Amino acid sequence: MKRYVIFLALLNVFNALTQEEQHFCAEKYTVHGKVPLEKYLSVQQEQKANLYDVTGYFLDLNMTNQSSDISGTAHIYGKTVGDLDSLILELHENFSISMLNVNGTAAGYNRYGTVLAVAVNAIGVTEFDLEVTYSGTAPPISSNPAGVSGVYNQMVSAMNDKITFTISTPFYAHQWFPVKQILRDKADSSRVHLTVPAVCKAASNGVLENNVDLGNGSTRYEWFNSHPIGYNLIFAAVAPFQEYLGQAFPAQLGGAPVEIRSYLYGTGTTLTNMQAQCDLIPDFMELFSDLYGLYPFADQRYGMMAAPFGGGMEHQTMPTIGTWEKKITAHELSHMWWGDKVGFSSFSDIWLSEGMATYSEYLMLQNLYPSEATPVLLGWHSNVKTGVAGSVYHVDTFNLYRIYDSRLSYRKGASILHTLRGMINEDAVFFQALHDYYNTFQDSIASSADFIQRVETTTGLDLTEFADQWLYGQGYPKYAIRWNDLGNNLLIEISHTASYPSVTPTFTNFIEVQFQRAAGTDTIVRFNITSNSDQFLIPAIGQVTGVAAIDPNNWIINNNGTITYDTEFTVGLSDLTDEQLKIIPNPTEGVVYLISPYEQVLKINVIDPGGKEVMEMDKVTGQIDLSGLCSGTYFIRMSDPDSGFSATRRIVKF
Ligand SMILES: [Zn+2]
Repeated sequence: MKRYVIFLALLNVFNALTQEEQHFCAEKYTVHGKVPLEKYLSVQQEQKANLYDVTGYFLDLNMTNQSSDISGTAHIYGKTVGDLDSLILELHENFSISMLNVNGTAAGYNRYGTVLAVAVNAIGVTEFDLEVTYSGTAPPISSNPAGVSGVYNQMVSAMNDKITFTISTPFYAHQWFPVKQILRDKADSSRVHLTVPAVCKAASNGVLENNVDLGNGSTRYEWFNSHPIGYNLIFAAVAPFQEYLGQAFPAQLGGAPVEIRSYLYGTGTTLTNMQAQCDLIPDFMELFSDLYGLYPFADQRYGMMAAPFGGGMEHQTMPTIGTWEKKITAHELSHMWWGDKVGFSSFSDIWLSEGMATYSEYLMLQNLYPSEATPVLLGWHSNVKTGVAGSVYHVDTFNLYRIYDSRLSYRKGASILHTLRGMINEDAVFFQALHDYYNTFQDSIASSADFIQRVETTTGLDLTEFADQWLYGQGYPKYAIRWNDLGNNLLIEISHTASYPSVTPTFTNFIEVQFQRAAGTDTIVRFNITSNSDQFLIPAIGQVTGVAAIDPNNWIINNNGTITYDTEFTVGLSDLTDEQLKIIPNPTEGVVYLISPYEQVLKINVIDPGGKEVMEMDKVTGQIDLSGLCSGTYFIRMSDPDSGFSATRRIVKF
């Protein structure tokens, strides 16, 4: 879903705003406090609901574009996976039930608010067909403090008529059909038949198998989706839509097309703007098929459906779109891979859907509109930094605004995927990791831990610190640099503070620094940060004249602190690491070379294993000839008489 903004009374305002400002509007509501979602199932009821597995939904419903009235029959097909005495699901109290059968026989049931408990006597694995005939009017948005509903009935001035459309996420599917609202349980398939006024068309998931003129002023649209689907991705919509067709040709299909069938409305620029976005779908689908693997529902189709709200919702095979802009077009299409085909195990993990879809906007721009990509990425970073805290992963799954928080679930989520791509540092491996993750979890659901583990398996990286700091942790670093040039060598100290240190005091990701050099071009050096202040000595970088940028490729959400050129900043001989002060070759047959940034002329003492000094040399600058010594192990002590510093290295002489 994209920037879930559905406050219909403000629609005209939203339509006039850019995406960034929509985000602002969404944020504005948070100042009134959290908007909690009703938790419909008790812990015990949820445990009971997990004792059966939904295999399919078949909804045969009468709907109109003139009201939120719904009537008809729902079949919930499933099988029990343990002994149980009742099937637990949810249906809003507004709907009255006129008939309820299990496997064709009337069954008793109880209703507790939205909870529907159907009496069964199931032992072990038992297949069932729960048939519920019901009717009523879906609750209006005015009945919900969040101003949202499962069913919207709305005037659309552009078509001078009304539309009825559903949005089931996060927990509103029960406001239009009896449903098990648990993300972990995908149905294997779904069938939605909608009988609607003949002047209308009806949209739902999958393939339109039939539209049957019933001869009474009604038409029945028969949609069938043959793929596993989350309850939150099932939808229905009714309006005098206009179909708009297209085709995409993902390379994997060898010239065969994917049908694109969109449901639009309006006239003039309203319609042509929608059509222009639909015309972008082939390029985007072919790109994402290259990056992620073939479009998941290529055997069915794709399309966009117009509705009067801000943003979009990734209904499987046909997202509902309110904002017609190419980043949204790409975002919703990419959800077919991320969020739909690969679901997420709880709303705590929604970044796996929204962060991926938002990052897909960037990938689309990077590949097709390259000049627009970096400003978008920097815009996310700026937005994330409007707050000092906040994690991508979150625990509060019953707060609507936290789930769909565009700063954290979307933009920080997308930004840390970019960081991960930078850590992997090889695009072929990064996209292979995404492929492997997709192949492992397609038609199922994944948790944040699943994602991290899968990427670790492909890349061989240990992502523990990345996950702790960037996914589960909060805030971001601010880097400061102190540097000095020691001849051709560079001494640099990179220190950072954290914006929310009580949770995440240290960020141990890499950071790149761009240096200006006296001769030649700028050079970018990547540093692996291990603490809040690290020193690095880079030998033979050439004379550095300045630090041009910290994180020039924008891999990391960060702020820049001071950059200081400090001629007093030197490193003592005894501070040098083995890497910084080397004697090579080792072992040696004779002449060895000192590799050191230390410019002082050194005094050398060579000591044998018995502690006896066998050589003494003054004012050594580069090489030492050990050829006169017997074979064996020696210690070479290098000292600077002026400063008193000294260091010892072990060497083997053949
Ligand atoms: Zn989205």
